[in-house]
Amino acid sequence: MIYKKKKRNMPLIPLRGLSIFPYMVLHFDIGRDKSINALEEAMVNDSLVFLTSQTKPNIDMPGVDDFNKVGTVSKVKQMLKLPGDTIRVLVEGINRGQILEVTQEEPFFEAEIEELIYEEEIIEDKKTETLMRMVLGSFEDYVNTGKKISGEVLDTVNEIEEPGKLADVISSYITLDLENKQKILEAFDPNDRLETLEVVLQEEIEILKIEEKINERVKDQINKVQKEHYLREQIRAIQAELGEDESIEDETNEYKEKIEKGDIPEEVKEKALKEINRLSKLPPSSPETGIIRNYLDWITELPWNEETEDILDLKKSKDILDRDHYGLKDVKERILEYLGVRKLSDSLKGPIICLVGPPGVGKTSIAKSIASSMGKEFVRMSLGGVRDESEIRGHRRTYVGAMPGRIISSIKKAGTNNPVFLLDEIDKMSGDFRGDPASALLEVLDPEQNSTFTDHFLEFPFDLSKVMFITTANTLNTIPAPLRDRMEIIQVSGYTEQEKLEIAKRYLLPKQKKENGLSDKNLSLSDNTIIDVISKYTREAGVRNLERELANICRKSAKRIVEEDIETVRVNTSNLNNYLGTPKFSYDLIAEENEIGLVRGLAWTSVGGVTLSVEATPMKGKGKIQLTGKLGDVMKESAMAGISYVRAHAAELNIDEDFYTNKDIHIHVPEGGTPKDGPSAGVTMATAVVSALSETPVYRTLAMTGEVTLRGRVLPVGGIKEKVLAAQRAGITKILLPWENKKDMDDIPSKTKREIEFVFVKDMEEVLDHALVKKDDENEN
Ligand code: ADP
Repeated sequence: MIYKKKKRNMPLIPLRGLSIFPYMVLHFDIGRDKSINALEEAMVNDSLVFLTSQTKPNIDMPGVDDFNKVGTVSKVKQMLKLPGDTIRVLVEGINRGQILEVTQEEPFFEAEIEELIYEEEIIEDKKTETLMRMVLGSFEDYVNTGKKISGEVLDTVNEIEEPGKLADVISSYITLDLENKQKILEAFDPNDRLETLEVVLQEEIEILKIEEKINERVKDQINKVQKEHYLREQIRAIQAELGEDESIEDETNEYKEKIEKGDIPEEVKEKALKEINRLSKLPPSSPETGIIRNYLDWITELPWNEETEDILDLKKSKDILDRDHYGLKDVKERILEYLGVRKLSDSLKGPIICLVGPPGVGKTSIAKSIASSMGKEFVRMSLGGVRDESEIRGHRRTYVGAMPGRIISSIKKAGTNNPVFLLDEIDKMSGDFRGDPASALLEVLDPEQNSTFTDHFLEFPFDLSKVMFITTANTLNTIPAPLRDRMEIIQVSGYTEQEKLEIAKRYLLPKQKKENGLSDKNLSLSDNTIIDVISKYTREAGVRNLERELANICRKSAKRIVEEDIETVRVNTSNLNNYLGTPKFSYDLIAEENEIGLVRGLAWTSVGGVTLSVEATPMKGKGKIQLTGKLGDVMKESAMAGISYVRAHAAELNIDEDFYTNKDIHIHVPEGGTPKDGPSAGVTMATAVVSALSETPVYRTLAMTGEVTLRGRVLPVGGIKEKVLAAQRAGITKILLPWENKKDMDDIPSKTKREIEFVFVKDMEEVLDHALVKKDDENEN
């Protein structure tokens, strides 16, 4: 390593935050007067200045101690005056130098510099060579990692053979803090310089690697966010094209307006506003927006405080009930009483009306009349088949496709919070593992609890205390007891043929004519024809099918009127089957003769009363009893009771006392279809057995019903009115009823009472006395 030192005076410029290495080209701006003076001085001489960095870059007017002693002798290559007093200079570093003495401070710094001039620089030893390779390798790493320097620089650097120069050139390319730069500058010995550079390079590479990692991560994040943003913008653009872009904002505004204007409880409002806020922040495509919208729609459309004013005018209620319904005297009376109590107590905290009766007897339409007479809205909800508590109380909103329960849905449909709410078929509800709907319903119906009925979906209590609930059922047996306790039961029983005729003439036919666009003179239908429709085409306690058949006739008549251009269609008993087809039912009419072992019983079914012919036949055997036909378990038991009675009284009845050891008895109840109620066939079966064993016929015009005990007592049974009506239809003229059913005679229309002979019996003896044909009558058929 050969270099010489040269001392000379030259102007000095302190650099702020910069430093320059030999071989390096640098441009920077000069503004300070002292520096400009120094530059001017240099220009008039040999263009050389000594550049050294300030130890503290923020000092504006540096003193002698404020710059490093080691710097670079540089040559000014270019000067450019910039607007203002700034001058941009381009300099090239020539040699290292160090200040021996600052010789002048004003008007610019001048110093005596010892310049180190390299004359010949060669690789002297292995160490230098190794260091050079290491530095080159590290620099290559640095370039590759940082990617801030072009690859061509590597080629240039690779060609440098002088170790000191190599260090200086590389140093000029890499980003270094001033401290490290100064360290390298102060390393006069090339080996020292390479070593210092290598350490610095390694540090820098580490930093670059970390930076790179961080950048990668940041970039990933940004990419994701940008992608979403970009997609969302695209959706907005598409929506704008489709004219839907106002949607979200308009929508939220609309909701806000509705919520603020709506008569909604404060806490619900608050929650709704929160949801609106959430909605506005969600991307339109998010599935959650649908859920929120659904919720808001419900909240805004529920009649939280909407109510109609109640009219409690008993006279008016009576008029409306009478106007809409024929007969039903008791039912109407009970309802008016109920309304009267309501009027006096001015509260709903009474029992709930439950209208019990077969289908089609007008339960729904009574409830409707109650609503209209009180000026209330009317909603109906069927509980038939409801088996899940959530159908009553709704699903939580987290549940996919969640909706409010049917109570709240119906209230929304009603549009007021005090409608008449008909819960239909309360007896058809069933519970399973998903929870018991009955207990949820109990809460709905309980005046103590229903003011805060909370639907899972709404999450807020809705006041049901102003709702007037009315329930209907076909039978009381299947209504859960706690529910039944809440209710005031009003029985609506079936209609007689005569009543049906009146209902058909006054209500059903006019209604159907109107619906089918027929005037009175368009269709003529005699009473007898209507009775045929009732008896041959329907078998029901109510009038639902009757109404359907009449509608059928009206439709077909309307068609004929149009097609054949005639004015009046006459439907009579002989052409009725052209309209309704062949009769669907033939009544189990009375037999032609008195027969042995054949007794007419009466039974009650959910669609009304029926007659049933019980047959008994003794056969050779070992005392077995065989029962066939549609027999419920209870009916089997009453058959056994009847037979036991016969066994006990065999002697009096003129029956072979050993009949149960040498004869089998076969009992058959032929009429099928609906399951019959049980015990009320007891007397019938016992009579059939006695008749068969004693070979005595039974009067054919007689029918009976009643339960029988082992000792032959006849116990009362239910459904008397329906049974009597069925007997009348079949042409029966005498009916045996249990003594204790006398009280039920009030329900029987007086016309029926006139046509049929009723006998009230206390025991089997009396039954048999009336049933078995007397010797004198035997030839009288
Ligand atoms: P339910 O609810 O008992 O099954 P609905 O109320 O639906 O029966 O009655 C069926 C049809 O019969 C309705 O059109 C109703 O108006 C009519 N109806 C039933 N009973 C009467 C009656 N006593 N007077 C007039 N119409 C009646």
